[in-house]
Amino acid sequence: MNLHEYQAKGVFAQYGVPVPEGQVANSLHEAERAAQTLGGTRWVVKAQVHAGGRGKAGGVKLVSSVDELKSEADRLIGSNLVTHQSGAEGQPINQVLIEGVSDIARELYLSVVVDRGRKRIVFMASSEGGMDIEEVAAETPEKIHTVAVDPVVGLQPYQTRQIAFGLGLEGAQVKELGAIMGGLYRLFTERDASLVEINPLVVTGEGHLIALDAKVNLDEN
Ligand code: ADP
Ligand code: MG
Repeated sequence: MNLHEYQAKGVFAQYGVPVPEGQVANSLHEAERAAQTLGGTRWVVKAQVHAGGRGKAGGVKLVSSVDELKSEADRLIGSNLVTHQSGAEGQPINQVLIEGVSDIARELYLSVVVDRGRKRIVFMASSEGGMDIEEVAAETPEKIHTVAVDPVVGLQPYQTRQIAFGLGLEGAQVKELGAIMGGLYRLFTERDASLVEINPLVVTGEGHLIALDAKVNLDEN
């Protein structure tokens, strides 16, 4: 079972993984109300479909006025979004997520998967956020850092530091990444996840880490 981004971000928040403030909307009216509740003058409107690649396909739009927000929400809700992951017919958009705009300094990649051969939960991280990990693996495999967690002892601090240094994080960011990885590990095991992916995990202009995208697949069993 795949969760929508807004649901996955709700789960992230429960596990202490920082996400932007946001509200899901099923209609124009709800989209407008969400923007009012969030405040500010700029928002991101994000189509909620079970497919990545929304940004390049026009499913993630930055808007700078309520009129623009309404016209993007109107365009998206009830339409189909075709992305390189959606199949040719695309996926119906029933909801949009309205979020505040994050100030992006760097886009990183972080995921948690099961390595069936090794019977271990594995973290994968890359400094090339925003790109498909398959592409990074094919072209610049040296930019992917992995650690496998021993289920007996769990995720160890030296492992989160290893990933943090691999990503070029420094100072308080190393601790923030440790907390994020710890939260993801607990989420993964407690919720029987088969995949958790943050692409991009962002370093903000102020130097903090925040999950701008969220993908969670749960084991059907
Ligand atoms: P997808 O992976 O489906 O294309 P993302 O959620 O990763 O969708 O969004 C695509 C891009 O849009 C991100 O890489 C990021 O640059 C930008 N973006 C997404 N959400 C926000 C946000 N809240 N604030 C600023 N930029 C965002
Ligand atoms: Mg993404």
